[in-house]
Amino acid sequence: MQFKSVVGQQALKKNLILGVKSGRISHAQLLCGSEGQGTLALAVAYAQYLNCENPGDDDSCGVCNACNKYQKLIHPDLHFTYPTIGANVLSANFMEEWRAAFLESPYFNSSQWLQRIGTENKQGNITAAETHEIIRKLSLKMFEGPYKVLIMWLPEFLGKEGNVLLKLIEEPTDNTILLLVTEDRDKILSTIQSRTQIVQLSRLSEEEVYNGLQLIYSLPSEQAATIAKISDGNFNAAIALIDEVENNFHEIFREWMLACVKSQMKDVLSKIEEMNTLGRVQLKNLLCYGLYVMRACILYNNGVYKQIIANTSDEPFISKFGQLINQKNIYPFAQEFSDAIYHIERNANPKITLLNLSLQVEKLFKVKV
Ligand SMILES: [Zn+2]
Repeated sequence: MQFKSVVGQQALKKNLILGVKSGRISHAQLLCGSEGQGTLALAVAYAQYLNCENPGDDDSCGVCNACNKYQKLIHPDLHFTYPTIGANVLSANFMEEWRAAFLESPYFNSSQWLQRIGTENKQGNITAAETHEIIRKLSLKMFEGPYKVLIMWLPEFLGKEGNVLLKLIEEPTDNTILLLVTEDRDKILSTIQSRTQIVQLSRLSEEEVYNGLQLIYSLPSEQAATIAKISDGNFNAAIALIDEVENNFHEIFREWMLACVKSQMKDVLSKIEEMNTLGRVQLKNLLCYGLYVMRACILYNNGVYKQIIANTSDEPFISKFGQLINQKNIYPFAQEFSDAIYHIERNANPKITLLNLSLQVEKLFKVKV
């Protein structure tokens, strides 16, 4: 995995590369980020850069022997530890599933992983046996080098077992780098936190998610733009939305709102018929898109958003629609949309839900400051 395939995090990538170039490489690092920010992807890209035979100024070369092996996760000096299930289970038992999951998309979360290894309803953990296996593996001679790397995904699953690793974290064996990748820093043993260098990932911007969707999934621009708006900086959520978001949400939403503003019941009903054909999942996402638009309008009205959407296809609509959204009606608007999403998720009749929502929306448009 090269840095260029990791979505966003530009400043951090630069910093990590600078550290390698100047020989300032901390032997135990704790990469912190929340779901969908790409902590695991970044850890692997960083490890590949460390071992690349011909690293460039902003990325590993992608073609040398080490890069080739890293890209398939088969480099003999690259080790992984991740949550599994059962008392004496080792991560290595699930290496095949791990490679498949990572190569599909390195943005998955813990429940997707546990579901993949067939343990959906059980709690995952990193076992005591695994911690001893880590110590054993890292004491072995290096095969190809220049670094042995252990990437531990979600050390929050360690529990007290983690204390066995303290000595290793404090004084790693020669040329060994430990990369701990967490999505919930508060759950990490403080004894581990105090012995590692913290590397904090940042929230992905809408633009970064948009670019990532275009680059990695070659999505049409409108669909990528809509998903980027709904996914709220979580690239894992964005990926899940690919099959669930039509690229004409903007059109449907605009026409529906227009019919509500003008109180044209005939048009409102025909829009409801059209939305009803979308299916429950798409409908829910359409309503999430609506929530996004409301939020964007308030930001636009306060001047915060103007520069962000200047000259984008959103601007004409948001600038006009924004005139109907104000401080008095924004909260009831958001509440009505959230309620409708809640009902759609719980199998309420979509037509009745949409009709109720349309009537409320029509009233709220008339509220003036
Ligand atoms: Zn290389």
